[in-house]
Amino acid sequence: MPHSSTHLWWGGAIGALLLLAGFQPEGPSPVAPDPGLDSIYAAYPIEPVDIRNVRMEDDFWLPIIERVQEKTIKYAIAKCEQEGRMENFLIAGGVRQGKVRGDMPFDDTDLYKIIEGASNSLISAPNETLEALTDSLIAIIAIGQEADGYLTTWRTIDPASPPAPWVEVKEGKRWEGLAMSHELYNAGHLYEAAYTHYRATGKRSFLDIALKNADLMVATFGNGKAQIHAVPGHQIIETGLLKLYELTGKKAYLQLARYFLDHRGKPAHHALFGSYSQDHLPVVDQREVTGHAVRAVYMYAAMTDIGVLMQDEPYQRAVRALWENMVSKKIYITGGIGARHEGEAFGEDFELPNLTAYNETCAAIGSVYWNHRLHRQSGEVAYLDVLERTLYNGLIAGLSLDGTKFFYPNALESDGVYTFNRGACTRQDWFDCSCCPTNLTWAK
Ligand SMILES: [Zn+2]
Repeated sequence: MPHSSTHLWWGGAIGALLLLAGFQPEGPSPVAPDPGLDSIYAAYPIEPVDIRNVRMEDDFWLPIIERVQEKTIKYAIAKCEQEGRMENFLIAGGVRQGKVRGDMPFDDTDLYKIIEGASNSLISAPNETLEALTDSLIAIIAIGQEADGYLTTWRTIDPASPPAPWVEVKEGKRWEGLAMSHELYNAGHLYEAAYTHYRATGKRSFLDIALKNADLMVATFGNGKAQIHAVPGHQIIETGLLKLYELTGKKAYLQLARYFLDHRGKPAHHALFGSYSQDHLPVVDQREVTGHAVRAVYMYAAMTDIGVLMQDEPYQRAVRALWENMVSKKIYITGGIGARHEGEAFGEDFELPNLTAYNETCAAIGSVYWNHRLHRQSGEVAYLDVLERTLYNGLIAGLSLDGTKFFYPNALESDGVYTFNRGACTRQDWFDCSCCPTNLTWAK
């Protein structure tokens, strides 16, 4: 990386934000896992290859990976800066004045996913400039965290003014609209990213933010008298908690992940969100993939982890049946899933239109993660077939060859009239909801 690029990366607002953060570089400080820990990775019979031992020399994947490392990550950071993603953490922390910027209650996660993508990149291709940049982003995120660990900037800034009208506000309190507030989704991406950052760098800076937040979740949610009996509207906190459990050995994280799964679809526990959020039946009784496809595959991945880690047969049975249903009736030839624009959801059996296919890029990413787990559990090649088909056809299609334009939905056909990609027939340079572009940096 030439020196001038360093200045470019550190220049402008990020440099100023860093000074505000009182940022200090931090050295490695490993977490000591409980020696008796039943780790999620050890529990899977098949261990993934350590990517530090992989040397890519091909002319298909290597250019894509390099493009993400050299272009897409930087591009996404610039877009996040432009759209106020960093500023929200500073406003939440009181070091800047202003109203929340952006349109989504989960805009915070864009930074988390970029850090996760950058961290993955650092594992395979060490880069001091990129590592320093992630340090600076983490210092900014720390400013937005409340003293007790809470971290969702729009609610800290002004709980009565959510960025999107569909977020429920009653008394302007935390956790009151979990169906759509994305407070637990934000936490999940935070944990996933902090885990990867720690694995990549050995630094605790991001992990400590995540652990403080996770400890708040453990104190807040559960069946205790003083606790809130609830589950997330949008899953991902479950796998995130399991990864923190992997690192720390703290059983409470494992138990809370299982709690969030065990109590879905139980009307005596909470007012159900319905099939859109896979909250219509207990998870062990679900046999049909349904509802919002990204939520679904993130949940099935977590169920797979629990099934393996806790040797839980009802979980394993449900996951196998859900997979069979998906791959035999609700998947495109590209591996794309979630046929409907309405609700970003799975359709009925064999409802797989080409022109109006939704196939969100994030859903393809989630399917890859789920299928990877299933292969590691069983060694069955069928799971890798779905993974590979999705990776080549349903996932990387979301990113242009120059690394800076994106599909959110991935149609199989275009007539040049139907604007399937959130108002466009072609890839766009960003979206008001930018989950897919930042997820692509994470996925690579
Ligand atoms: Zn997305």
